[in-house]
Amino acid sequence: MILVVGGAGYIGSHLVKELVENEEVIVLDNLSTGHREAVDSRAIFVEGDLGNEEVLQMIFKSYPIKAVMHFAAYSLVGESVIDPLKYYENNVASTLRLLKVMMNNHVKNFIFSSTAAVYGIPAAEMIDEKTETSPINPYGHSKLAIEQILADFKAAYELHYVILRYFNAAGAHESAQIGESHNPETHLIPIILQQLAGHRDKVSVFGSDYETPDGTCIRDYIHVNDLACAHILALKALLSKEKSAEVYNLGNGHGFSVKEVIETCEKVTGLKATVEMADRRAGDPARLVASSQKIFSELGWKAERNLEQIISDAWKWHQTQLY
Ligand code: UDP
Repeated sequence: MILVVGGAGYIGSHLVKELVENEEVIVLDNLSTGHREAVDSRAIFVEGDLGNEEVLQMIFKSYPIKAVMHFAAYSLVGESVIDPLKYYENNVASTLRLLKVMMNNHVKNFIFSSTAAVYGIPAAEMIDEKTETSPINPYGHSKLAIEQILADFKAAYELHYVILRYFNAAGAHESAQIGESHNPETHLIPIILQQLAGHRDKVSVFGSDYETPDGTCIRDYIHVNDLACAHILALKALLSKEKSAEVYNLGNGHGFSVKEVIETCEKVTGLKATVEMADRRAGDPARLVASSQKIFSELGWKAERNLEQIISDAWKWHQTQLY
Protein backbone atom coordinates (compact mmCIF):
# COMPACT_ATOMS: atom_id res chain seq x y z
CA MET A 1 0.00 0.00 0.00
CA ILE A 2 1.18 3.51 -0.82
CA LEU A 3 0.55 6.48 1.47
CA VAL A 4 -0.09 9.68 -0.46
CA VAL A 5 0.14 12.69 1.82
CA GLY A 6 -1.69 15.63 0.29
CA GLY A 7 -3.57 13.36 -2.11
CA ALA A 8 -6.62 15.67 -2.16
CA GLY A 9 -4.61 18.56 -3.60
CA TYR A 10 -4.14 19.53 -7.21
CA ILE A 11 -1.14 17.40 -8.15
CA GLY A 12 -1.73 14.72 -5.50
CA SER A 13 -5.27 14.00 -6.69
CA HIS A 14 -4.07 13.51 -10.29
CA LEU A 15 -1.36 11.14 -9.10
CA VAL A 16 -3.84 9.16 -6.99
CA LYS A 17 -6.15 8.71 -9.98
CA GLU A 18 -3.27 7.01 -11.86
CA LEU A 19 -1.81 5.15 -8.91
CA VAL A 20 -5.04 3.37 -7.90
CA GLU A 21 -4.93 1.51 -11.22
CA ASN A 22 -2.03 -0.61 -9.92
CA GLU A 23 -1.61 -0.04 -6.19
CA GLU A 24 -3.64 0.10 -3.02
CA VAL A 25 -3.61 3.72 -1.93
CA ILE A 26 -4.29 5.56 1.31
CA VAL A 27 -4.56 9.34 1.24
CA LEU A 28 -3.85 11.58 4.22
CA ASP A 29 -4.95 15.19 3.76
CA ASN A 30 -6.13 17.90 6.16
CA LEU A 31 -8.28 19.45 3.41
CA SER A 32 -6.82 22.90 4.14
CA THR A 33 -6.43 23.48 0.43
CA GLY A 34 -7.39 20.09 -1.00
CA HIS A 35 -10.82 18.78 -1.97
CA ARG A 36 -12.33 15.57 -0.61
CA GLU A 37 -14.30 15.00 -3.82
CA ALA A 38 -11.07 15.10 -5.87
CA VAL A 39 -9.81 11.90 -4.21
CA ASP A 40 -10.49 8.83 -6.32
CA SER A 41 -13.09 6.64 -4.63
CA ARG A 42 -10.81 3.60 -4.88
CA ALA A 43 -8.39 5.15 -2.35
CA ILE A 44 -8.83 5.04 1.44
CA PHE A 45 -9.14 8.58 2.78
CA VAL A 46 -7.98 9.81 6.19
CA GLU A 47 -8.58 13.43 7.12
CA GLY A 48 -5.66 14.61 9.21
CA ASP A 49 -2.51 16.65 9.37
CA LEU A 50 0.85 15.36 8.22
CA GLY A 51 2.38 16.76 11.40
CA ASN A 52 0.02 14.79 13.64
CA GLU A 53 2.15 11.94 14.96
CA GLU A 54 -0.82 10.06 16.43
CA VAL A 55 -2.61 9.91 13.10
CA LEU A 56 0.61 8.92 11.35
CA GLN A 57 1.28 6.18 13.91
CA MET A 58 -2.24 4.86 13.43
CA ILE A 59 -1.74 4.72 9.66
CA PHE A 60 1.66 3.00 9.82
CA LYS A 61 0.42 0.50 12.44
CA SER A 62 -2.82 -0.28 10.60
CA TYR A 63 -1.65 -0.55 6.98
CA PRO A 64 1.32 -2.23 5.29
CA ILE A 65 2.79 0.98 3.84
CA LYS A 66 5.71 0.35 1.50
CA ALA A 67 6.28 3.91 0.31
CA VAL A 68 5.18 7.47 1.03
CA MET A 69 4.57 10.15 -1.60
CA HIS A 70 4.47 13.63 -0.14
CA PHE A 71 2.48 16.42 -1.83
CA ALA A 72 1.20 18.27 1.24
CA ALA A 73 2.95 21.61 1.13
CA TYR A 74 2.12 25.27 0.92
CA SER A 75 3.44 26.52 -2.39
CA LEU A 76 2.83 30.23 -2.92
CA VAL A 77 6.02 32.22 -3.24
CA GLY A 78 4.50 35.58 -2.29
CA GLU A 79 2.71 34.18 0.75
CA SER A 80 5.92 32.50 1.92
CA VAL A 81 7.65 35.89 1.99
CA ILE A 82 4.86 37.40 4.11
CA ASP A 83 4.36 34.40 6.38
CA PRO A 84 7.55 32.28 6.48
CA LEU A 85 6.54 30.66 9.77
CA LYS A 86 3.60 28.99 8.05
CA TYR A 87 5.95 27.62 5.40
CA TYR A 88 8.69 26.37 7.72
CA GLU A 89 6.13 24.94 10.13
CA ASN A 90 4.27 22.89 7.54
CA ASN A 91 6.79 22.29 4.79
CA VAL A 92 9.75 21.60 7.09
CA ALA A 93 8.68 20.82 10.69
CA SER A 94 5.64 18.70 9.81
CA THR A 95 7.52 16.90 7.04
CA LEU A 96 10.26 16.11 9.54
CA ARG A 97 7.68 14.52 11.86
CA LEU A 98 6.38 12.46 8.96
CA LEU A 99 9.93 11.27 8.23
CA LYS A 100 10.50 10.49 11.92
CA VAL A 101 7.38 8.33 12.13
CA MET A 102 8.38 6.64 8.86
CA MET A 103 11.83 5.79 10.26
CA ASN A 104 10.29 4.51 13.53
CA ASN A 105 8.07 2.21 11.50
CA HIS A 106 10.83 1.13 9.11
CA VAL A 107 9.13 2.63 6.06
CA LYS A 108 12.05 3.79 3.97
CA ASN A 109 10.81 4.73 0.51
CA PHE A 110 9.93 8.37 -0.06
CA ILE A 111 8.94 10.46 -3.07
CA PHE A 112 9.19 14.15 -2.47
CA SER A 113 7.58 17.00 -4.41
CA SER A 114 10.16 19.73 -4.77
CA THR A 115 10.24 22.76 -7.00
CA ALA A 116 12.09 24.89 -9.53
CA ALA A 117 12.07 27.54 -6.77
CA VAL A 118 15.15 25.82 -5.27
CA TYR A 119 17.18 27.29 -8.16
CA GLY A 120 16.39 30.92 -7.31
CA ILE A 121 17.47 33.11 -10.22
CA PRO A 122 19.47 30.63 -12.26
CA ALA A 123 22.19 31.77 -14.62
CA ALA A 124 21.58 28.76 -16.86
CA GLU A 125 19.36 29.05 -19.92
CA MET A 126 18.28 25.43 -19.45
CA ILE A 127 18.24 24.37 -15.82
CA ASP A 128 19.51 20.88 -15.09
CA GLU A 129 19.93 19.16 -11.74
CA LYS A 130 23.54 20.31 -11.50
CA THR A 131 22.53 23.98 -11.72
CA GLU A 132 23.37 25.63 -8.42
CA THR A 133 20.51 25.74 -5.90
CA SER A 134 20.08 29.17 -4.35
CA PRO A 135 16.47 29.91 -3.36
CA ILE A 136 15.29 33.51 -3.17
CA ASN A 137 12.19 32.99 -1.03
CA PRO A 138 11.11 30.97 2.05
CA TYR A 139 9.10 28.55 -0.09
CA GLY A 140 12.21 27.55 -2.05
CA HIS A 141 14.25 27.39 1.16
CA SER A 142 11.68 25.16 2.83
CA LYS A 143 11.84 22.66 -0.04
CA LEU A 144 15.62 22.71 -0.22
CA ALA A 145 15.81 22.11 3.54
CA ILE A 146 13.90 18.86 3.12
CA GLU A 147 16.09 17.87 0.17
CA GLN A 148 19.11 18.19 2.50
CA ILE A 149 17.35 16.28 5.29
CA LEU A 150 16.63 13.45 2.86
CA ALA A 151 20.31 13.18 1.90
CA ASP A 152 21.27 13.09 5.60
CA PHE A 153 18.61 10.46 6.36
CA LYS A 154 19.86 8.37 3.46
CA ALA A 155 23.37 8.41 4.90
CA ALA A 156 22.31 7.74 8.49
CA TYR A 157 19.11 5.64 8.24
CA GLU A 158 19.15 4.20 4.72
CA LEU A 159 16.11 6.15 3.63
CA HIS A 160 15.58 5.72 -0.12
CA TYR A 161 14.16 8.69 -1.94
CA VAL A 162 13.42 10.37 -5.23
CA ILE A 163 13.06 14.16 -5.34
CA LEU A 164 11.01 15.61 -8.20
CA ARG A 165 11.50 19.29 -8.89
CA TYR A 166 8.40 20.52 -10.68
CA PHE A 167 8.41 23.50 -12.97
CA ASN A 168 4.96 25.10 -13.62
CA ALA A 169 2.29 22.44 -13.12
CA ALA A 170 -0.85 23.18 -15.12
CA GLY A 171 -3.74 21.53 -16.95
CA ALA A 172 -6.38 19.10 -15.75
CA HIS A 173 -7.27 15.44 -16.05
CA GLU A 174 -8.48 14.69 -19.58
CA SER A 175 -11.78 13.41 -18.13
CA ALA A 176 -12.38 16.93 -16.73
CA GLN A 177 -13.39 15.25 -13.45
CA ILE A 178 -10.55 16.89 -11.54
CA GLY A 179 -8.46 19.98 -12.19
CA GLU A 180 -6.80 22.98 -10.64
CA SER A 181 -8.91 24.66 -7.98
CA HIS A 182 -7.19 27.08 -5.62
CA ASN A 183 -8.91 29.71 -3.55
CA PRO A 184 -7.76 32.37 -4.07
CA GLU A 185 -6.30 31.46 -7.47
CA THR A 186 -2.88 32.98 -8.16
CA HIS A 187 -1.62 30.88 -11.09
CA LEU A 188 -1.44 32.26 -14.57
CA ILE A 189 -3.31 29.71 -16.70
CA PRO A 190 -6.37 29.33 -14.44
CA ILE A 191 -6.55 33.10 -14.04
CA ILE A 192 -6.59 33.62 -17.81
CA LEU A 193 -9.21 30.90 -18.28
CA GLN A 194 -11.38 32.32 -15.49
CA GLN A 195 -11.21 35.68 -17.23
CA LEU A 196 -12.12 34.15 -20.59
CA ALA A 197 -15.01 32.31 -18.92
CA GLY A 198 -16.33 35.64 -17.63
CA HIS A 199 -15.43 35.13 -13.97
CA ARG A 200 -12.81 37.90 -13.76
CA ASP A 201 -12.62 41.45 -15.11
CA LYS A 202 -9.07 41.23 -16.39
CA VAL A 203 -5.73 39.47 -16.39
CA SER A 204 -2.83 41.46 -14.94
CA VAL A 205 0.55 40.79 -16.53
CA PHE A 206 3.10 41.09 -13.73
CA GLY A 207 5.98 42.93 -15.38
CA SER A 208 6.67 43.71 -19.03
CA ASP A 209 10.24 45.00 -18.65
CA TYR A 210 12.06 41.72 -18.00
CA GLU A 211 15.08 40.78 -20.08
CA THR A 212 13.12 38.43 -22.29
CA PRO A 213 12.15 38.86 -25.97
CA ASP A 214 8.69 40.33 -25.21
CA GLY A 215 9.52 41.65 -21.74
CA THR A 216 7.29 39.19 -19.83
CA CYS A 217 8.43 36.26 -17.68
CA ILE A 218 9.14 32.92 -19.26
CA ARG A 219 8.08 29.66 -17.60
CA ASP A 220 8.07 25.97 -18.44
CA TYR A 221 4.50 24.64 -18.16
CA ILE A 222 4.08 20.95 -17.50
CA HIS A 223 0.82 18.99 -17.69
CA VAL A 224 -0.30 17.63 -14.33
CA ASN A 225 -0.81 14.17 -15.85
CA ASP A 226 2.74 14.17 -17.17
CA LEU A 227 3.80 14.89 -13.58
CA ALA A 228 1.65 12.01 -12.37
CA CYS A 229 3.33 9.64 -14.87
CA ALA A 230 6.78 10.70 -13.64
CA HIS A 231 5.77 9.82 -10.07
CA ILE A 232 4.65 6.36 -11.11
CA LEU A 233 8.00 5.72 -12.82
CA ALA A 234 9.91 7.12 -9.84
CA LEU A 235 7.96 4.86 -7.49
CA LYS A 236 8.72 1.81 -9.62
CA ALA A 237 12.41 2.70 -9.68
CA LEU A 238 12.42 3.11 -5.91
CA LEU A 239 10.53 -0.09 -5.11
CA SER A 240 12.68 -2.15 -7.50
CA LYS A 241 15.76 -0.64 -5.80
CA GLU A 242 16.97 0.65 -9.16
CA LYS A 243 17.17 4.12 -7.56
CA SER A 244 17.79 5.11 -3.97
CA ALA A 245 18.76 8.79 -3.86
CA GLU A 246 17.89 10.81 -6.94
CA VAL A 247 16.73 14.24 -7.93
CA TYR A 248 15.00 14.95 -11.23
CA ASN A 249 13.63 18.06 -12.91
CA LEU A 250 10.18 17.77 -14.43
CA GLY A 251 9.42 20.21 -17.21
CA ASN A 252 8.56 20.38 -20.89
CA GLY A 253 11.87 21.94 -21.87
CA HIS A 254 10.10 24.81 -23.64
CA GLY A 255 9.70 28.29 -22.25
CA PHE A 256 6.60 30.41 -22.86
CA SER A 257 6.24 34.06 -21.91
CA VAL A 258 3.17 35.35 -20.09
CA LYS A 259 2.09 37.03 -23.34
CA GLU A 260 2.51 33.79 -25.28
CA VAL A 261 0.45 31.90 -22.71
CA ILE A 262 -2.34 34.47 -23.02
CA GLU A 263 -2.23 34.17 -26.84
CA THR A 264 -2.35 30.38 -26.65
CA CYS A 265 -5.36 30.52 -24.29
CA GLU A 266 -7.09 32.83 -26.78
CA LYS A 267 -6.30 30.47 -29.65
CA VAL A 268 -7.52 27.37 -27.81
CA THR A 269 -10.74 28.95 -26.56
CA GLY A 270 -11.47 31.24 -29.52
CA LEU A 271 -12.05 34.08 -27.03
CA LYS A 272 -10.29 37.40 -26.48
CA ALA A 273 -8.80 38.16 -23.05
CA THR A 274 -8.97 41.51 -21.29
CA VAL A 275 -5.39 42.20 -20.26
CA GLU A 276 -3.63 44.98 -18.34
CA MET A 277 0.07 45.53 -17.81
CA ALA A 278 0.95 45.64 -14.11
CA ASP A 279 4.01 45.92 -11.89
CA ARG A 280 6.38 43.05 -11.37
CA ARG A 281 5.45 40.55 -8.65
CA ALA A 282 8.06 40.15 -5.89
CA GLY A 283 10.27 37.10 -6.16
CA ASP A 284 9.66 36.26 -9.85
CA PRO A 285 12.75 35.25 -11.84
CA ALA A 286 12.66 36.26 -15.54
CA ARG A 287 13.10 32.79 -16.95
CA LEU A 288 12.73 29.24 -15.60
CA VAL A 289 13.04 26.45 -18.15
CA ALA A 290 13.93 22.87 -17.31
CA SER A 291 16.17 20.34 -18.86
CA SER A 292 14.51 17.01 -18.04
CA GLN A 293 17.19 15.05 -19.87
CA LYS A 294 18.23 13.18 -16.72
CA ILE A 295 14.87 11.56 -16.01
CA PHE A 296 14.48 10.82 -19.72
CA SER A 297 17.78 8.96 -19.93
CA GLU A 298 17.42 7.20 -16.57
CA LEU A 299 13.70 6.42 -16.31
CA GLY A 300 12.48 7.02 -19.88
CA TRP A 301 10.11 9.84 -18.88
CA LYS A 302 9.32 12.80 -21.03
CA ALA A 303 6.47 15.27 -21.14
CA GLU A 304 3.87 14.09 -23.66
CA ARG A 305 1.51 17.08 -23.58
CA ASN A 306 2.34 20.51 -25.00
CA LEU A 307 1.02 23.92 -23.94
CA GLU A 308 -2.05 23.73 -26.19
CA GLN A 309 -3.01 20.36 -24.70
CA ILE A 310 -2.45 21.72 -21.19
CA ILE A 311 -4.72 24.67 -21.89
CA SER A 312 -7.41 22.71 -23.69
CA ASP A 313 -7.64 20.18 -20.82
CA ALA A 314 -7.68 23.03 -18.28
CA TRP A 315 -10.41 24.77 -20.31
CA LYS A 316 -12.61 21.64 -20.32
CA TRP A 317 -12.28 21.54 -16.53
CA HIS A 318 -12.96 25.26 -16.09
CA GLN A 319 -16.17 24.95 -18.00
CA THR A 320 -17.43 22.44 -15.41
CA GLN A 321 -16.80 24.95 -12.60
CA LEU A 322 -19.51 27.26 -11.33
CA TYR A 323 -17.38 29.57 -9.11
N1 UDP B 1 1.57 35.92 -13.71
C1 UDP B 1 0.98 37.07 -14.24
N2 UDP B 1 -0.29 37.36 -13.85
C2 UDP B 1 -1.01 36.59 -12.98
C3 UDP B 1 -0.40 35.43 -12.46
C4 UDP B 1 0.90 35.13 -12.84
O1 UDP B 1 1.58 37.79 -15.02
O2 UDP B 1 -2.14 36.94 -12.66
C5 UDP B 1 2.95 35.57 -14.13
C6 UDP B 1 3.91 35.45 -12.97
O3 UDP B 1 4.48 36.70 -12.65
C7 UDP B 1 4.92 34.45 -13.53
C8 UDP B 1 4.09 33.56 -14.45
O4 UDP B 1 2.90 34.30 -14.72
O5 UDP B 1 5.88 35.11 -14.32
C9 UDP B 1 3.70 32.24 -13.80
O6 UDP B 1 3.18 32.53 -12.51
P1 UDP B 1 2.41 31.42 -11.64
O7 UDP B 1 1.91 32.11 -10.41
O8 UDP B 1 1.41 30.73 -12.51
O9 UDP B 1 3.53 30.36 -11.29
P2 UDP B 1 4.98 30.51 -10.60
O10 UDP B 1 5.96 30.68 -11.73
O11 UDP B 1 4.93 31.66 -9.65
O12 UDP B 1 5.15 29.20 -9.90
